[in-house]
Amino acid sequence: MLATFIASGLQVSAQTRSLPAPVQRADMTRVPAWTTPPKLVVGIVIDQMRPDYIYRYWDNFSTGGFKRLIGEGAFLRDAHYTYIPTITGPGHASIYTGSVPAHHGIVANERYDRATRKMIYCVKDTTVQGVGSATAQSSPSQLLATTLADEIERRTDRQGKTIGVALKDRSSVLPIGRTGDAAYWFSGTGFATSTWYMKELPKWASDFNARKLPETYLNQVWTPLLPIEKYHQVLPDENPYEQPLFPGAKSAFPYDLAALSKGPTGITLIASTPWGNTLTTDMALAALAGESMGQDKITDLLAISYSSTDILGHKMGPRALEIEDMYIRLDQELARLLTELDKSVGTGKYTLFLTADHGVVDVPQYLKDLNGSAGYVDVRSWPMQMREDYYAFIGVERRLDERGPAVVDTIMDGQVFLPGRDEMVSQRLLDFLKSKEEVDQVFDVRLAQMVALPEGQGALVKNGFMPQRCGDILYTLKPGYFEAEGSFVGKGTTHGSGWTYDTHVPVILFGQGIVHGEVVRKTAVADIVPTMCMIVGCALPDAAVGEPVPEVLAK
Ligand SMILES: [Zn+2]
Repeated sequence: MLATFIASGLQVSAQTRSLPAPVQRADMTRVPAWTTPPKLVVGIVIDQMRPDYIYRYWDNFSTGGFKRLIGEGAFLRDAHYTYIPTITGPGHASIYTGSVPAHHGIVANERYDRATRKMIYCVKDTTVQGVGSATAQSSPSQLLATTLADEIERRTDRQGKTIGVALKDRSSVLPIGRTGDAAYWFSGTGFATSTWYMKELPKWASDFNARKLPETYLNQVWTPLLPIEKYHQVLPDENPYEQPLFPGAKSAFPYDLAALSKGPTGITLIASTPWGNTLTTDMALAALAGESMGQDKITDLLAISYSSTDILGHKMGPRALEIEDMYIRLDQELARLLTELDKSVGTGKYTLFLTADHGVVDVPQYLKDLNGSAGYVDVRSWPMQMREDYYAFIGVERRLDERGPAVVDTIMDGQVFLPGRDEMVSQRLLDFLKSKEEVDQVFDVRLAQMVALPEGQGALVKNGFMPQRCGDILYTLKPGYFEAEGSFVGKGTTHGSGWTYDTHVPVILFGQGIVHGEVVRKTAVADIVPTMCMIVGCALPDAAVGEPVPEVLAK
């Protein structure tokens, strides 16, 4: 067959004899775009941002912030996280590795360690010293995959400058990976780093801290920026679903920040106000200038994360007047940042992406009061209930005060850690969890190491699971539910689930190499960095599972 095909092909070409038109020399020598990569990549993460904030607050935004990013850039309108838990440490690691916790290892903010029976914070590292603050002992030592920062370092033969800035340490450390240049975070007085990166703060950073901007910003009264009738609020400012800025304080405007900062929080109060975001922009711009980023042909990376949206968001929930006001002011911060980038790097000479590390659910009590299906689960009583259930099942009567072997080691955040490998105990625990009304699905993940979990929530559980760092039995709660007790019931909110309110986040790409438009097909947050790698012309992070989004790439 092959011989016939070739022979007839030859015959056809012999018969027609017409030569193809000469190729234009200009086309042949066209220089690929990736040979002139952007001078700077800017990553912006907004902690706890839901995409519907863009829709709800649109008419209150300025022309230079979100409206400019969406009006000139590409908006991925159905972008999701593809794992559980949707929280800050895993979020930042996943964005910048283009991967999932199952591969990069940041499976939680704080995870339970079986060997020591203690909690381990995702960037805690006692082998490093704080620089600029004694308590700043943070590093990416638990991160097991490369990030965009590592790959830019490799691509530029370590000449690129890769710097992370955030109030939260995990939000500046994880994006910069293990070989990036520096991460700076708010220590409670100023911005600090650790000996993982350097022995002392650069002069521009100490000069920045010496300006004592937190004190200046807190010397004012916080009132709504716009006339109150412009806000999109279904609830009055004073409502029963909000937690105060700190216990005993109030949860309604006006906030006398000078007076409040004399309370228990001290100047860390700034992290719960819009000026936490202002301070973050200030520090990012100080790094940009201090390190001369984006000033030569070698690609640099500035990874900025705005933490205050999450810190206030947990307290107030997504319907609060305070949250809308914070986003209106954040929009103006973005406009200021873009203006400065245009000035110092050049309009169209940098590539920027904006996303969030997770979304958030409405205050469950608010949903319940609207006849929605939502609520709280206090799992603290479960280990004792499980123990009673198990001993009753095997026909052994034990008094509550009698110390029989515990059937679980610990339960937290949808994970059950077992003390041993007793199959009868595990089977009974699975049945116990399945009997709970609030539980959606239960997964015996010891089995899942060999057998694929089902699609949907099961796939999200699998992507978030690393056997050495996770529990033995995992469970998910029904939509609208989360684990809470005490003062967290009824007021405030959280995130972490695999439901759309937590997985769905905005993704906006902007600047060099990006074409304007909207993408409405479902995309993954893990697609952002592979897309950036196509523009920069660097290798993919080693555990990347995302794919470039072709619709947004300039041809
Ligand atoms: Zn949070």
